Amino acid sequence: MRKESVEFNGINLEPMEYGHDDHLDAVLYSEKEDPVEQEIRAVLRSRYWLLRFPQHLESEFTALYIPRAIQLFHFRSPLLFLLFLIENIGIYQVLPAEITQYYFSLNAWTGIMIVIASVLSYLPQLSRWYEWYIGVGGVVAIAVSTATANIGGGDSVILTYAGTMYIVVVLYSFVCLRFRAAMIVGWMGGIFGIILAHLLGHPMNWKLYNLTYTMTSILGMCLAYALDRQERTNFLQACLLRHSVDKGQKLAQQLNTLSRQDGLTGLANRRHLDEVLRHEWNRALRQQLPLTLMIIDVDFFKRYNDRWGHLAGDECLQQIATLIASFAKRSGELASRYGGEEFVLLFPSMAEQEAAQQAERLLSGIKKLGLPNPEEDHSFVTVSIGVAVCLPSADVSVARLLRQADVALYHAKENGRNRYAFFNDAMLNKDGVDLTRA
Ligand code: GH3
Ligand code: MG
Ligand code: MG
Repeated sequence: MRKESVEFNGINLEPMEYGHDDHLDAVLYSEKEDPVEQEIRAVLRSRYWLLRFPQHLESEFTALYIPRAIQLFHFRSPLLFLLFLIENIGIYQVLPAEITQYYFSLNAWTGIMIVIASVLSYLPQLSRWYEWYIGVGGVVAIAVSTATANIGGGDSVILTYAGTMYIVVVLYSFVCLRFRAAMIVGWMGGIFGIILAHLLGHPMNWKLYNLTYTMTSILGMCLAYALDRQERTNFLQACLLRHSVDKGQKLAQQLNTLSRQDGLTGLANRRHLDEVLRHEWNRALRQQLPLTLMIIDVDFFKRYNDRWGHLAGDECLQQIATLIASFAKRSGELASRYGGEEFVLLFPSMAEQEAAQQAERLLSGIKKLGLPNPEEDHSFVTVSIGVAVCLPSADVSVARLLRQADVALYHAKENGRNRYAFFNDAMLNKDGVDLTRA
């Protein structure tokens, strides 16, 4: 917002608008809530009791969760197989000899399922089916162990029912199935087990079955639910963190760009000009190529402001800046705001003849802009241009190039403005100091 100028101790203080940068304010003080962050926070607040995210978050969660589950399964499946072997060796020792073969011909399926799932988990093209093949394996394992739990009788049932419990616990907590999948598989396995026991003609020991399978299933569900929710919380927090890191990087990038830009005109600012100038100077020095620098100063701009106000003055500067920017097209060329109503154009590898053409083009471009002139004797705003062309050498500096362009600008002003002047040594006294400015 424009502020009035104020008088302080007899001095008229100009408003701060020349240093004001709307782009920078927009980046730094943006109050706008970030929709992505808002959504994640809303989901976090909802506590996702039903273990479901909005569709796109759910897909993102799945896309991260499944590969990690598969990776864990690679390490866990050999352990599972070992557990299966140990348990079955124990059962073998207590099982009546006459049913050993029959029992293991059925129970071997659990081991086969572990091996198949383990192999499948190494096939990347099947990764999205992970919960399915683990699920099928789980259903088979629970069904077989339910159906065969009671066939040995005597001491063996303690071990066989314990085996069913192990399988249920593994299913709910060790193979990284999400809660829903684990629950479906757990109960389906139990139901199929009862059906299979019935089909094979094995009686169920309901009391033992409820004490082992049913109780463990309930416990397993609680465990799987807590694990699934924790996974989801971790996922959302990781999303928030990643998002704020991304935002920070973007902000740093924007600030980096803005720190090189002039807020009013969008041209390179003085700092950026200094950087590029140094770089191009060194390049020209290495390659022994000429470097052209133009300082462009708007004529009688103070009067423009006085007559039409600072806001109109700003707009005028913006239009002139847009035109000047169109002159820096090739790589290494730079249009910058040098300060106030002064601009600098830098042209690497440009010799005098082309520089003169560019300066003329710029003067006629400004004329075509047709910005109203506060002076009676001109009909449009004009600029004066000081041009310095030099072949960099080790004993001259960038500062000297700028100084030369400045001296040339002074001569253009002195000679009537609305023109360009090339620097030449005659403009200096013999000590190399511009006395005309003193
Ligand atoms: P000359 O032809 O000799 O260059 O005369 P001039 O009036 O252009 O030069 P002078 O240095 O006396 O005045 C420059 C004016 O430019 C003074 C200042 O108010 C104005 N100015 C500098 N920066 C800005 C800006 O960002 N916006 C506006 N509106 N005016 C600016
Ligand atoms: Mg000036
Ligand atoms: Mg001026």
